[in-house]
Amino acid sequence: MKKHDDPNYVVKVEKAIAEKYGEAAVQHPRSDWTEEKEKDYIEQLKKLAEKEKQNSEKNEKIEKSGFLISKKLLKKKGQRECPKCNIYSFDARDDLYMNKFECCWKCYIKYVEHDLEAQHARNTAAKKEKEEENENHETKT
Ligand SMILES: [Zn+2]
Repeated sequence: MKKHDDPNYVVKVEKAIAEKYGEAAVQHPRSDWTEEKEKDYIEQLKKLAEKEKQNSEKNEKIEKSGFLISKKLLKKKGQRECPKCNIYSFDARDDLYMNKFECCWKCYIKYVEHDLEAQHARNTAAKKEKEEENENHETKT
């Protein structure tokens, strides 16, 4: 007679386990589990999931408005958003140019440096003109 054909085999094993681990270990983990309880459990899980979903949506909105507030505050300082191109920058280099020239680095290259070159060219021309004027004046006297 093989072990598994013995109708008492399961009972014997359960008894052995009970002796070793105690009565509770032998019991089916869901022996007191009813369909009713399972429905309740699933319902509770659904409610919990819904609640968590609502909470995370709420947090997201708070984070978004928090970002808007901090962005506004930074904008008030006028050092993060370039008034020329309206680019919002956290670049340290842009910060430097923003403080010095009231625009970002790219705009500085695009507008200010160009202006300075033009100004320099005008100054040089004016200086040259003045020098020529002086020379003319000197020759006359
Ligand atoms: Zn700019």
